[in-house]
Amino acid sequence: MAACGQAEENQLKERRGKMEADVIVIGSGAGGLTAVVAAKAGLDVVVLESAPVFGGTTAFSGGGVWIPVNHHMKELGVDDSRAEAEAYLKSVLGNFYDAAKIDTYLTNAPRMLDYLERNTEVLLAASTIPDYAPSAPGWKTGRCLLTADYDGGGSAPISTCCVRRFRRWACSIRCR
Ligand SMILES: Cc1cc2nc3c(=O)[nH]c(=O)nc-3n(C[C@H](O)[C@H](O)[C@H](O)COP(=O)(O)OP(=O)(O)OC[C@H]3O[C@@H](n4cnc5c(N)ncnc54)[C@H](O)[C@@H]3O)c2cc1C
Repeated sequence: MAACGQAEENQLKERRGKMEADVIVIGSGAGGLTAVVAAKAGLDVVVLESAPVFGGTTAFSGGGVWIPVNHHMKELGVDDSRAEAEAYLKSVLGNFYDAAKIDTYLTNAPRMLDYLERNTEVLLAASTIPDYAPSAPGWKTGRCLLTADYDGGGSAPISTCCVRRFRRWACSIRCR
């Protein structure tokens, strides 16, 4: 992804020294930009990025997201259940299985997916990528979602398109 646009940079220079925000997000990877969803609640959000470009490692990752019992699995005709996901994770994680963390993850990951798809332009798509351990109990295909194709807004570079969308959300990105 490219650096912030000149207009964005000028606007930030004007505000330098007196910048206030309801929410400050450090870093513009998937974690940080998911926090930007706070802007949807009417808050003023600033993202501070130490690199000269935004996107972090996320910008060149594969974008696969592993979520058991996700609603896209139905499109593949795959049934999944929490009990099967727990069985799979117990098998592959062994002594690293942390019941409290897994419980939180299995409860909130599908809710996060649903929330992001309803409230942002992030869309994930079903894939037939299988879980990595086919002999483990509870093994499935379809838990790994991939990012859906994204319309970058015609001839404008995708970075410009992203900056425009952030502005619409009342969110500034300040790159170094
Ligand atoms: C080639 C490749 C493929 C991958 N494929 C997948 C995949 O398919 N599925 C998967 O789940 N994971 C994948 N990963 C791993 C995944 O990309 C990372 O786990 C994920 O992107 C991390 O997101 P993040 O938001 O935590 O960090 P990042 O995306 O790295 O974002 C962190 C941001 O914070 C900024 N930053 C750091 N310190 C500061 C500071 N002090 N002040 C301001 N800004 C700061 C950084 O410059 C960066 O922009 C892949 C990784 C690689 C390299």
